[in-house]
Amino acid sequence: MTTIAFIGLGNMGLGMASNLAKAGHVVRALDINADALAKAVAAGCVQAKNAEDAVATADIVVTMLPAGKHVELVYADVMTHAAPSTLFIDCSTIDVDIARKVIAEAEEAGFAMIDAPVSGGVGGATAGTLTFMCGGTEPAFRRAKPVLDIMGKNIFHAGGAGNGQVAKIANNMLLGIHMIGTCEAFNLAEKLGLDAQTFFDISSTASGQNWSMTSYCPAPGPVETAPSNHDYQPGFAAAMMLKDLRLAQDAAQSAKAATPLGAQAMALYGLMEASGDDGLDFSGIMKLIDGTL
Ligand code: NAD
Repeated sequence: MTTIAFIGLGNMGLGMASNLAKAGHVVRALDINADALAKAVAAGCVQAKNAEDAVATADIVVTMLPAGKHVELVYADVMTHAAPSTLFIDCSTIDVDIARKVIAEAEEAGFAMIDAPVSGGVGGATAGTLTFMCGGTEPAFRRAKPVLDIMGKNIFHAGGAGNGQVAKIANNMLLGIHMIGTCEAFNLAEKLGLDAQTFFDISSTASGQNWSMTSYCPAPGPVETAPSNHDYQPGFAAAMMLKDLRLAQDAAQSAKAATPLGAQAMALYGLMEASGDDGLDFSGIMKLIDGTL
């Protein structure tokens, strides 16, 4: 049995912490939101009073926080209270540079730490089927793996510190781009007199085939379970896609990597934010493309 401090029990963290508690670990939960904390306690976690109370007796600290600034703030506190052998696992999606900075600070202070952002959404967090993309040293990854196995199904070691974040933002930038491209193709076909189902039947077995089309089709009709058939309710909200596209553009600038389509995808999802429609699923960008937003 391991004692795990879990900090950040929001939409994702709640399911993840619950699965660790269900597996028999002592989970010491901490969140600035009282409702989130109460749900975690109801799911079998132990309420911690503050960072010191959460981490002082913990073998492992897991964080699932909104953004880089929260991760910096929380680990500054955690590092002053954790025992030297404690392993830190940050599962938040944050800037590559901040992830690398916080891991370097942790290692300098004698802690082991990995970045381990996820894909799979709230459903995956609840079901324990998340995909983890991890960055950090091999020994730190090996220590984290049994805990990640409880919360996820596919666990990848992507290389050194920050490489988990690199994998996550590069993947999601590609997802945003092929979603928009798929919307344009369905809209063009429809405007020229080709219905969505017929175009789907042809393109899904031809070279235009991609995940946005076959698993998450943005045109209503062809894929029954897709958000397009449920008023574009998320799923994966456009606001979350925009967050990841912004992280990708920041990272691309600092790496001097050319990402013109990533920049365009960010601008288009920015229009959904500006019109107040970023609560829709990210496939709802179909409505921007076909002029119905
Ligand atoms: P959320 O806002 O629901 O949860 C974050 C929690 O952190 C909140 O409960 C908040 O109160 C808490 N928090 C903030 N600052 C804190 C602090 N200083 N101390 C303690 N607790 C603090 O967000 P979420 O949807 O659970 O997402 C968490 C992370 O996972 C984000 O980085 C997000 O990009 C990433 N992610 C989310 C999804 C998704 O579908 N929701 C999917 C993949 C990755």
